[in-house]
Order: sequence, then C-alpha cells, then structure tokens
Amino acid sequence: MSTLTGKLLRINLNDSSYGKEEIPRRHITRFISARGLGAKYLYEELAPAADPLSPDNKLLLLIGALGGTGLQGFSKWAVMSKSPLTGTIFRSISGGNFGVWMKHAGYDLIILEGRAVAPTYIHIDADGLHFHEAADLWGLDYRRLQAQLRAKHGNRTESACIGPAGENLVRYAVIHSGERTASRGGMGTVMGSKNLKAVSINVPIKKPAPFDPATFKGLLGTQVDILKTHPRKQTMTTLGTPYITKIVNMMGILPTKNYQEGSIPAIEDLSGDQFFELKKARAGCYACMTRCGGMREVAHGPFGGTQIDGPEYETIFAFGPLLGLSDRQFVIDANALCDAYGIDTISTGVCMAFACELFTRGLISPADTGGLKLTWGNKEALFSLIEQIGQRVGFGRLLGEGVQKAAEQLGGGADAFAMHIKGLELPGYEPRGVKGYALSMATSNIGGSHMYGRPREEFSGQADPLVETGKGDLIARVQKEQALEDSLIACTFGNTGLDTTMYARLLLAATGIDDFADAANLLKIGERIVCIERCFNARDGFDRKDDTLPQRMRKEPLQQAGPATDQMVGNLEHLLDEYYQALGYTAEGIPGIDRLQALDLPEAIENIKTHPVTNSSDSPGKSGQP
Ligand code: SF4
Repeated sequence: MSTLTGKLLRINLNDSSYGKEEIPRRHITRFISARGLGAKYLYEELAPAADPLSPDNKLLLLIGALGGTGLQGFSKWAVMSKSPLTGTIFRSISGGNFGVWMKHAGYDLIILEGRAVAPTYIHIDADGLHFHEAADLWGLDYRRLQAQLRAKHGNRTESACIGPAGENLVRYAVIHSGERTASRGGMGTVMGSKNLKAVSINVPIKKPAPFDPATFKGLLGTQVDILKTHPRKQTMTTLGTPYITKIVNMMGILPTKNYQEGSIPAIEDLSGDQFFELKKARAGCYACMTRCGGMREVAHGPFGGTQIDGPEYETIFAFGPLLGLSDRQFVIDANALCDAYGIDTISTGVCMAFACELFTRGLISPADTGGLKLTWGNKEALFSLIEQIGQRVGFGRLLGEGVQKAAEQLGGGADAFAMHIKGLELPGYEPRGVKGYALSMATSNIGGSHMYGRPREEFSGQADPLVETGKGDLIARVQKEQALEDSLIACTFGNTGLDTTMYARLLLAATGIDDFADAANLLKIGERIVCIERCFNARDGFDRKDDTLPQRMRKEPLQQAGPATDQMVGNLEHLLDEYYQALGYTAEGIPGIDRLQALDLPEAIENIKTHPVTNSSDSPGKSGQP
C-alpha cells in the first residue's frame, strides 16, 4: 500500500486517445511527486525550443504524495508546463478539490498533449474517460461552467477549467478549481491553446491507503496537536494573508505606483484587521484546519451581489498601492472581475501599473489607450481595462501579452518601466528592501515569483534584509526546501510547525519508500528538482544574463520606503556568484557536470553536452530585460 498511485494518465487531444502508464519507481525515488515529477517529465518529453502555445507543449496536472490522506494542508495540486509568459519551465499551485479527485480516479499525474480540433472538455467517471464537445460551454466563466458540469455529471463533480481569458489566449490566464486558482505563468493560456475548456472528474471516493497506517495516523495526530495551539496558525485562520500588508509596509517593501515607492501612509485602510471586518465566512482547501481564506461581498461587475474567496495579500498589493489606491472594495471587485475572466491578479495589476506610469510620464496617451485616462487611482478606467484584458480587446489586447512583450511592442524606452523577471510580472515584495529575496526572484527558474524560495529569515530578523552579501547559501537552501515542499505538496501557509524531519517520517509511513526516510536526502531531492528545472531552461538558452532584476531595482534608489529608503540592489553580480557557488553552477549559471553527477542526473549531463549553452543574441532565452 502507498498513498502514491504510481500511475499516470496520458491524454492526446490530437486524436482523442488516452492510456494509463506506470510511473517508473526510479522517477519517484528521485523526484517524489507533484513538482518533482512534473519537472522530470517536462524535461524528458518537451523538445527544446518548443512553442508554449503550440500543440507541442504539454500540460501536466499533478497531486502530491501526501494529498488526499487527511494530512492538514497537503491536498493542493500543481499545474506544470512551458510558460507562454516566460518561455521557461513553470509550475503553478492551486487549492480546490481537483487534485484529490485525481487521486480518487487513480492518478498522481495527468499529461495533456496535442490540441483538439474544436472546443472540448474531458470527463472521467467510473466508466472511464470521455471526450465531449464544449462549443456550448465556450465563453462561460468558471462558476457557470462548474454549475453546468455538475448539472450534467453530478453534484460531486470537480474540475480544472478555464474562463474566457484562457480561450482568448491572454498570456496570464489561470486554471480554476472550485473558487481557487493555479494563477501564475499562463497555465490557463496553455489549456486554452489546446482547445480544452475543462477536465472534470466524478468517481467514487478511494482514499489513499498509507503503507504504515498506524504510524501515519500517529503523525497526523501530532500535526493536529501542533496546529491547535500554534500562533501562526491562529493568525492565518483569523486574518489570512491580508495580515502581510502592514508588515511589508513597515519594512518599506510594499510596491507602490509601479515599484517607485515602498510604502503608503493609508496602510490601515488595507490592513488585515480591516479585511477581517469584511469577512462573511471562512474558506479554505480540502483537509485544512488553517482555512486561511475568507468570503467577501462583491459590489460591482459580473459577480456583483455574490461573494468571492479573497482577496489574498498579493491581490491587495496589485489592486491597491501598486495602482496608487487604498480602496478595499475596489480590491475585492477587481479580484472578482479577474476571476470572472480567469486572469492572474498579480500580472494584471503589474501590467496596469506599467500602463499608468507610461501614461503619467506622457509616453502613451488616450490615443494609445482607446480614450482611457490611466492616471494613478482612476478606478473606473482601471476596471474597464481589466475587462479589455480579459476580452483581449482594445488596449487590453496589448497588456494581455504580459508586461515584457507589451514593452517590446511599445518601444520608446517603455521597457524601463516593465517590472518583470524572465517575463513574469513581479510579486508584492519590493526587491530593493529584501536583498536575499531579490536574489531568489532573480534566479528563480520560473521568473519573478515570490513562491520559488522565500527567505523567512529576512522577515523574522534572523538575517538583515538590507545586507547584500552572504545571501547565496541562504537562497540556495530556501529554494531547495521550497522544491521539496512543492513536491509533497505542503502548503506554505498550512504547513505550520513541520520541518524536513517530519516530512521524512510522513513520507516513509505513507509510501514505505526507504529513500524518503532521510531528511538530508529529501533536501538533495529538492536540489535535484531546482537543478533539472535549470537544465530545462539552459537547453533553451537561459543563463546568467536572464538571472537579473529590472533596471529600476539595480539603478534607482527606492523612495518613500521607511528603513529601505534609498536602497538599490547595487551588486547583483556578487549575489549571483555566491548563489552559483552554493549550488555548484558555472559562472554562467549552468549546473556543472560534477554537481549533476552528485545529484544523480545522468539525463541532464547528456543534454548539457548535446545542447551547449549559447550566448548568441538570437537565443530563445534572450530576456530583453532592461
Ligand atoms: S492554509 Fe490556506 S491555502 Fe493552505 S491549504 Fe489551508 S486553506 Fe488552502
């Protein structure tokens, strides 16, 4: 018995065929599950230079080894693919029940290949797998879609699905599961490019059975005891991620007006306490005592008069200070509008802030924006702009390409105001005020993500966030830990009180695989995952030149930022040297042969030899970063 099914489902949309396959045990012992397995399969099966929006790309849906077991906060699921925003390998993680339903259906992994000739959805039930026409579902938002799927296939149907923006190929479209989303990197865009509206599942519940049920039950009891009294859990349950706004404002790292400033005076308006006042009900993921979400009422837009699960901190920053606003209701309404179309709130906010700065500086005018006056805080214009992005019309068509491509198309120096790393719009942490975090974002194999390795030490006072040296080892470690947690999948907000030793005990009891009993080996697996992701990108020409930050972070002193005022990341090159050294990479940021051997990655050694890294200007990995 094992909580892993050891099976994958491969679906080819070109000819509506499918088949079940064994996942080789060596894949599992080297990569565990979820992000690890996804990185392995994408590395092995995607040809170098594959176009992310072509049928050659693959979309992987994955659940972790501990998902669906009853362990608290371990039932999220992952989507992986080559991103149409970044051109890199990508993983995005979602809540909702879909992943657990995959496991009930008997799969750790679903691989979607090719492109359907017409809008399609896939339904899996006790009788097998069925391809359905989706012409009548095309254009529906996720709520109407999920309601129709439940009406047709039963109330217990769970789905991974896209809204109109995914169909329209907006490059940062999301995939929904219930009220939650796999938000970043355009995973919904890849799904839309495959003419695939949804994958739905309604099968009898088949709870994963641990290898050692008694030990696993004991460990679950320990976890529950920890959660009952842990202060972090209490904060997350009461306030959720909105509690972060005041902390980052105090540190001077709350991105304001397109990352020109680092704090706002009216922070109380966006505090966790104020959002708590608006909370109508608790919300959360499958099997999670923390339940960090909260339902809040929407005033305007297609979901006006209903409630949404949100907003999270990242949405508060993106539709608040970043746009020169501190209006809670606007944040909620803009969040709901993005949900209705199915677009990532971070990328949407950063693209709009970019446009506002260009407009304010006179680099674009109403003639470019279709008449929209994109001054800071113009809520009406910004609301219209979200609609245009979701529909991929008007000025929104350009912004729906993502901030990097939009800047390239506009020209005229617009790239100096495009806040992205490797094409992924930056998150809600100003890099100039947290230098280790800046290094983590710069080196992230998926671009400017806050979830690729978060140095908590810079927030807790254990490491000085403004010191710019000695951060290489720290970031190498937190990236390995994050890769490990994404491969279980342990929720960053729900894994309170657990450490790598506990993960080892849990994995051993769950799967019976001895390789997982050693915490040091688990961290090595984390490093192996980060490394194979880097090799995937290196094969496409990514290297040191792409591990960078926007010019603003390197050249302009941060303003209005409390303790971080006047800070810059002045010596990124030194930080990169430290980081590469910590991971055994070459000075160009490519894993060295010795390290690949030590990490037992023979497939990557072969590829590094076969596809030597190029610095040529026509490399597909050339970032165009200012
Ligand atoms: S802590 Fe929040 S995000 Fe994490 S699993 Fe629980 S409800 Fe979901």
